[in-house]
Amino acid sequence: EDERIESVKEMMLTYKVDLLHLQFVDIEGILKHVTITADQFEDAVEGKIMFDGSSIKGFSPINRSDLFLQPDLDSFAIIPWSVEKNYAEARFLCQVKNPDGTPYEGDSRNVLIRSVENARKFGYTISIGPELEFFLFQMDQAGNPTVHPHDKGGYFEPSHDLGEKVRLEIYRTLKAMGFKIEASHHEVAMGQHEINFQFRDALASADNATTYKWIVKTVAKQHNLHASFMPKPVQGTNGSGMHVNISLFKDGENMFYDEKDERGLSESAYFFIRGLLDHVEELTAITNPVVNSYKRIVPGYEAPCYIAWSACNRSSLIRIPSKRGAGTRVEVRHPDPSANPYLAYAVIAEAGLSGIGSQILPEPPIEEDIFAMTSEARTDKGIVHLPNSLEAALNKLEAGSLARTILGSHVYEQFTALKKAEWESFKNTVHAWELEHYHTKF
Ligand code: GLN
Ligand code: MG
Ligand code: MG
Ligand code: MG
Repeated sequence: EDERIESVKEMMLTYKVDLLHLQFVDIEGILKHVTITADQFEDAVEGKIMFDGSSIKGFSPINRSDLFLQPDLDSFAIIPWSVEKNYAEARFLCQVKNPDGTPYEGDSRNVLIRSVENARKFGYTISIGPELEFFLFQMDQAGNPTVHPHDKGGYFEPSHDLGEKVRLEIYRTLKAMGFKIEASHHEVAMGQHEINFQFRDALASADNATTYKWIVKTVAKQHNLHASFMPKPVQGTNGSGMHVNISLFKDGENMFYDEKDERGLSESAYFFIRGLLDHVEELTAITNPVVNSYKRIVPGYEAPCYIAWSACNRSSLIRIPSKRGAGTRVEVRHPDPSANPYLAYAVIAEAGLSGIGSQILPEPPIEEDIFAMTSEARTDKGIVHLPNSLEAALNKLEAGSLARTILGSHVYEQFTALKKAEWESFKNTVHAWELEHYHTKF
């Protein structure tokens, strides 16, 4: 610990860091920060930096509003664009604590920390590699974001334009902050991109997802583009997903790999898949948490809408990418980047772990294109639809008990109240579509 503090101090001296941003997220995973001066670093490490939690969405009520930020030393990073000759800025992601030093139950990062510790009791490390897609849109003359993509490129296409340049700049910025990037490419839709970073343990990956969204948005803005992680910003083309590649490690070995199995999967992997499938309806409100999420998971756009698993079929909810050995993993394809990564990874991991606890094998995988099957064929095979609206997903969330246990009552209550209000507001709004179709007809 002392050594890590010393090495952070050294970096701060080398780069002449004069400002530190202490970052954390609200219940929707939206980044917040407070900026302190570098000479307050020791106070920060001792957990002495206080803030008013009552002003943060999903945090504490007004009568218990003093909360403290505990910087996570592993998350220390110099902010690349701030580096000048005589000063620079750095950031930490923080754990939120109560005045008595215990972890604050309303902090979603603490929810994931709890899940990581649960897994560790069995000797498991949860490993996650997320894939967050996003769009780059043009700004209008007044500097407001439009829904016009910046290019006409398609999957893996080199576009030799601003988007390509911005994606490269994002790549370099992430790399400078310590990310290990595996691939960076244009996605299927016009103006859509994806940058993949290497899998890490669950907490580091959720931190990376949070940092990534911030960096993508910031760098895009520096080039007068608007980056959006909205699940379905453009009608009639692919939306943006956050596929979650997950595996468990024990004693440094990937527990999902078994060379003797016909698919190269271990019994634990099968149990894990079963646990996920059994709980996925209940978790969808967490992994797909906005009204717009449900416009993405419809047939025809490489996003799943039926509950099934398969070895390679991209129409299914759970896919097993072909890598084996240490890279053996389960890919969960319905989550989208509007999800709070801390909550999403916690519920996905624990649903899978619950399957390992119950030791029940899943039904055989579905290898045909589920979108092309008749509804009778789907019924025959017991394939059900994911919840098809935020309202339906919230009903499933409330009918179950696993998610409530994982989130803890504070986060659970705040989350459901917030999301119900969001649904009510949407439901009571007269939308442009209604005016277009009914206004002159009736
Ligand atoms: N954009 C698709 C989704 O919504 C995924 C497409 C892809 O990664 N090939 O999940
Ligand atoms: Mg990908
Ligand atoms: Mg993709
Ligand atoms: Mg994928």
